[in-house]
Amino acid sequence: MAMAGSGVLPAEVDVAVVGAGFSGLYMLYRLRGLGLRAVVFDEAGDVGGTWYWNRYPGARCDVPTTDYAYSFDAQLEEDWVWSEKYAAQPEILAYLQHVADRYDLRRDIRFGTRITAAVWDEAARRWRLRTGDGDEVSCRYYIMASGCLSLPKAPDIDGVDRYRGEVYLTGRWPHGGVDFSRKNVAVVGTGSSGIQCIPLIAGEAARLTVFQRTPNFSVPARNGPPPPDRVALLATDRAGYRQAARWSRGGVPRELTDVSGVTAPEYVRRERFEDAWQAGELFAILGVFSDQGVNAVSNSRVAEMIREKIRAVVSDADVADALSPTDYPFGTKRPCLDTSYFETFNLPHVRLVDLRRTPIVAVTEAGIDTAEESFEFDAIVFATGFDAMTGPLVSVAVTGTDGVTLEDKWQHGPVTYLGLMTTGFPNFFTITGPQSPSVLSNMVVSIEQHVDWIADCLQRLRAENLDRIEPTPLAEAGWVQHNQDCADITLYPRANSWYMGANVPGKPRVFLPYIGGVDAYRRACDEVAENGFMGFRLDGPAGSRCNDGVIRRLQPDMAMVLDLVASLGLPPIEAMSAPDARAFSEATAASRPPGPEVGEIADGVLPGPAGDLAYRLYRPPTRGPHPLIAYFHGGGWVLGSQDSDDPLCRDLCVRTGSVVVSVNYRHAPEDRFPAAADDAFAAVAWIAANAAALGGIPGQLTVAGWSAGGNVAAITCQLARDAGGPDIASQLLLAPVTDCDLGRPSYASNGEGFILTAGLMRWFWDHYADEADRANPKASPLRGTLDGLPPAVVVTAEFDPLRDEGDAYAGALAAAGVPVRHIRARGHTHTSLTMVDVVISGAPVRAEIAEALDSLRPEPARS
Ligand code: NAP
Repeated sequence: MAMAGSGVLPAEVDVAVVGAGFSGLYMLYRLRGLGLRAVVFDEAGDVGGTWYWNRYPGARCDVPTTDYAYSFDAQLEEDWVWSEKYAAQPEILAYLQHVADRYDLRRDIRFGTRITAAVWDEAARRWRLRTGDGDEVSCRYYIMASGCLSLPKAPDIDGVDRYRGEVYLTGRWPHGGVDFSRKNVAVVGTGSSGIQCIPLIAGEAARLTVFQRTPNFSVPARNGPPPPDRVALLATDRAGYRQAARWSRGGVPRELTDVSGVTAPEYVRRERFEDAWQAGELFAILGVFSDQGVNAVSNSRVAEMIREKIRAVVSDADVADALSPTDYPFGTKRPCLDTSYFETFNLPHVRLVDLRRTPIVAVTEAGIDTAEESFEFDAIVFATGFDAMTGPLVSVAVTGTDGVTLEDKWQHGPVTYLGLMTTGFPNFFTITGPQSPSVLSNMVVSIEQHVDWIADCLQRLRAENLDRIEPTPLAEAGWVQHNQDCADITLYPRANSWYMGANVPGKPRVFLPYIGGVDAYRRACDEVAENGFMGFRLDGPAGSRCNDGVIRRLQPDMAMVLDLVASLGLPPIEAMSAPDARAFSEATAASRPPGPEVGEIADGVLPGPAGDLAYRLYRPPTRGPHPLIAYFHGGGWVLGSQDSDDPLCRDLCVRTGSVVVSVNYRHAPEDRFPAAADDAFAAVAWIAANAAALGGIPGQLTVAGWSAGGNVAAITCQLARDAGGPDIASQLLLAPVTDCDLGRPSYASNGEGFILTAGLMRWFWDHYADEADRANPKASPLRGTLDGLPPAVVVTAEFDPLRDEGDAYAGALAAAGVPVRHIRARGHTHTSLTMVDVVISGAPVRAEIAEALDSLRPEPARS
């Protein structure tokens, strides 16, 4: 059997690669460089991958060519000159053919050959691959470089096979092109492929009818010569530019904004939007505001400005309306770049059929029937998309250890480690696989990163006399969780997109790519490799080793906050005087988001044991009376006031539907132990006595607090029990201080780098209480008697030095017979839950807290 270049398919190779597009070509280049014997398979007749198949009119890249090109060989870059900002398919294909020629790659590529099955042979530690022709090849390592959008989705419409006219699929376009002149043509689908081909087909056809199910956001590409500023940058510092791309969020160097679409004034919003609109680049329009991917209000502002643009172009108001997306946030379905797309609908021979109003019933012999009309066509173009990301991988019957197939393992969605490998399938790599940045990034940058990582990995294995690598279940589960955590803080899961698998009937609804950013992802991959391939089991003649673990456990938004804090190089609070520390914490609080709107906020004073105590009352917008929460702020008994936990109190008020009374109390070092606890107890007594006047339901009082506020809240409940009142219905302890023993393991593991440090806790204790007083239950409630206390919601955070004492308190309460809901905030820190609208991943935890509090209320009071 002939190879593309020459020779017979060898029975054994070191590495088999599937796919000869951007990924496969560079992979082969690197494997050759390592001296490994490799063979590449591709169903296509030549190199090119996506650019081999997608030859429809108007097909172009939508990342500028200055960025959408290999960077591994500076000479290749110097020698190849792109003609346009967004090159058309023939030019990109010619580029890849040039690469294949330049490095003489074709001789190891077998074209016209599909790999249909791959079986892992554990005894031989090799993969056995079968081709569509029935040939077999065995390889040590098997790499799928098969692309993310390479398996077209079969048009899932009744009667497609019945149609007698010409049928075209954008993803499988005829090589000779198609002549649409004088034809009556239909295009089904308005994703990127539809939006690119519709204006060109309209330019040729006698009549064009576009069948649209979901309108798409699209931005004028403003194609032209490659961007001169970037060409100049590349000319002066190519290496620096490429390095910046590798460490950017999306694989294209860009300055990130901190302008919020919620708080920026309208003129700033419009100015930024207009700049992005004029830039004609996806990353520009996706980055108008810092928060448009995570905040619905910010997002809706971009979306509305795009809709204004559509209305300004499309002359028929009904058509403009139908072309305007309204039911998913901007960016959560892949936005498009276009050339005269919306203008096309002003042409007299072009018609839009809105399938939301008149769905397709069936394809007929002559055309398409909708619920209202029968259409006849000479040709139908299906631009209906792909079984994205997982489709090409599971379309091969891949069988791993224990006979499990990849399709079976992924039946509920992809499960990978780093989007590179999957447990149970040793020595099997996926380039730009699901759960890697891939389709959310500049693909070429992500491809090079994966290829380099895999090549370096194979080199290390060989150097260490190892020949088998497989991720551990722990590492894999951690990565899957991290992917989900990243997606969950965004608006992306709200859309029925191919990112979510929602375009293919029956496909599990899971967010497929990694959305934490190219930079963050690269850092994770590098760390894994540097830490002895953490989370992988490595075996071979040299033995076996495994540094098991989870590479990312922090909530991703909290990790970003910590990175930011670290980058500021702030002085530690414990190095300051108490007044300076107070001024510093007030200054940092001034710039935070305000938290949700409540019905009313009122300030007042209440009598304390040593003078008046200021309080702030938050009333829900609903009609009262409401349950009452007496709240005590955090700040280590030294910092804070009725003002300091404002966003959290608003959030608590809205989520729980309670009147929240946030009470200030005396602070150390001016007023040391037990002033704070005494004030809290007196305040709760006053609030309980004045419940009705405050708008509360008598008997429905929760005593709550965060951190040191949690400490005085817990103590207040003990004092109230001992004093026979006031009557407290429940307690809510958020990351509370419960004990003076600073020797618990969480102090060691979380004592540095998570904002509240062990050193700061020591400073707080030193300011508040003498050594002799600290074990007193009025300072360390864990040491008190716990039976007979009100039902409790105790919240502890995984990366909090106070975690273990909070856990201990929850455990001790339960052991004493107190009903307890213990909420463990996974991936969170001491401060996470208070950072309302900053650490978005804290919101579901606060929702759980509200639900838990509600569940503790007597039946009739439940919301
Ligand atoms: P797509 O974005 O999935 O769009 C498919 C279109 O077909 C959607 O409008 C979809 O409607 C519609 N559709 C699917 N099944 C249908 C049915 N049974 N009846 C009616 N309408 C149906 O696919 P694509 O346009 O090929 O693009 C896929 C991705 O490839 C892009 O998002 C992009 O990442 C990449 N791409 C890039 C370029 C570029 O670089 N310029 C060009 C093309 C593609 P619904 O939305 O309602 O499902």
